Amino acid sequence: HKPVHVVGGGLAGSEAAWQLAQAGIPVVLHEMRPQVMTPAHKTQGLAELVCSNSFRSDDAETNAVGLLHQEMRRLGSLIMAKGDAHQVPAGGALAVDREGFSEAVTAALAGHPLVTIERGEIAGLPPEDWDSVIVATGPLTSPALAEAVLGLTGERALAFFDAIAPIVYRDSIDMHVAWAQSRYDKAGPGGTGADYINCPLTRDQYEGFVRALLDGEKTEFHEWEKDTPYFDACLPVEVMAERGPETLRHGPMKPVGLTNPHQPDVKPYAVVQLRQDNALGTLFNMVGFQTKLKYAEQVRIFRTIPGLEKAEFARLGGLHRNTFLNSPKLLDRTLRLKAAPRLRFAGQVTGCEGYVESAAVGLIAGRFAAAERLGRPLSPPPATTALGALLNHITGGHIETIDTGPQSYQPMNVNFGLFPPLARAPKGEGGKRLRGKEKTLAKKRALTDRARADLAAWIEGGEGRAAAE
Ligand code: FAD
Repeated sequence: HKPVHVVGGGLAGSEAAWQLAQAGIPVVLHEMRPQVMTPAHKTQGLAELVCSNSFRSDDAETNAVGLLHQEMRRLGSLIMAKGDAHQVPAGGALAVDREGFSEAVTAALAGHPLVTIERGEIAGLPPEDWDSVIVATGPLTSPALAEAVLGLTGERALAFFDAIAPIVYRDSIDMHVAWAQSRYDKAGPGGTGADYINCPLTRDQYEGFVRALLDGEKTEFHEWEKDTPYFDACLPVEVMAERGPETLRHGPMKPVGLTNPHQPDVKPYAVVQLRQDNALGTLFNMVGFQTKLKYAEQVRIFRTIPGLEKAEFARLGGLHRNTFLNSPKLLDRTLRLKAAPRLRFAGQVTGCEGYVESAAVGLIAGRFAAAERLGRPLSPPPATTALGALLNHITGGHIETIDTGPQSYQPMNVNFGLFPPLARAPKGEGGKRLRGKEKTLAKKRALTDRARADLAAWIEGGEGRAAAE
């Protein structure tokens, strides 16, 4: 077979290349780092995680991203295999040692006999004689390539902002003030129930902190950035603070499910949580503290948090603009650009959001490209699966997208709202009608059960299997 070219060795490109190679198709994976870096990446490793080290919830029964993890594992995902192998404790979430994870993905691809890794930027449209290309260049696609693609589509770029949270050295945290505990002592995979470090704030300290966030000096936007919206699930901490004095206390700083062993009788008014960032346990990231405060301001303001007075930062926070395609309009059902079908798109550039989602879209793009090379058509996974629901959102198959029209296309994490509704509301024992929380949980369970059955049928049906053989 002629090789398929994958441009971009991030979460999506690495997964796509793996799926192709596992299907017996030679792949050339083009990654521009280290020659050309993005504003957020720091290493030359493939599948580098640019901000948090979390793949979010691993609960496949009642959480959509947990279900997506499970589906990807069933489909032989490299990203999930290496994520599982490099897990660090994080309550019910799947968090990974970012360096160990990235090194393992890089080694697996470099060691695969059908994968060639070429370093260097593809600074324009890929050469005409590459008849099958997966573009997985991510939210920070290099400008030369982004402009060339936009030129093909005649569209203006869609964009939004994503921010990065700071990372602190563990031994610079004052553990006479802070303490280790997961909310409600929840011990997830590999966890102990004491996976997070918590810093307590009194009411006065909290109010002073919120004021400091609001008054702190921020990096300025460029004129052309002024109309760009934030991605709602990744708001800078100071933007959350602007929404109201209590917003943070009900968001990332909520004090629930935690008891301060240094002062068991005093309920903290707010809490800053840090999550383990590497396997050694020497680095912790500030959960929810993505920010566009200037560096010096971050150091000054974050050191007012009790326990972080002497904090040393391995990395400070920052803000980056994400560019993505108007995919429902521009891509076909198998992620090919309608204007140039030899180009297939995958990852965050298609308008999904998040590490896991990007890798998932890479997985399915790799399978589509492999099936095409093998001359065996592959139908998309059913819309009732997490993978299918996400793909539907991107390619415009979902009812909501049609209703609102591609003009309002917005990046999306996988969520149950993307799934087709259940035919029947689930009932309790003895046919009892369910209400409230019980009803919500039963619905989620029914949705994930349906997804598992439908994915199994898709795989059994042979179409899903085509690329796995
Ligand atoms: P990437 O992982 O970015 O990979 C794209 C690759 O393509 C890069 O390696 C890049 O160097 C390469 N490349 C770009 N242009 C070219 C070119 N022309 N030629 C060759 N190579 C090229 N998601 C989360 O789940 N949690 C978070 O906390 C989080 N925080 C984020 C913070 C920021 C600032 C940003 C920008 C994104 C964040 N995201 C987060 C989203 C996350 O980046 C993406 O979900 C994920 O990394 C996207 O995967 P991808 O494979 O599409 O792109």
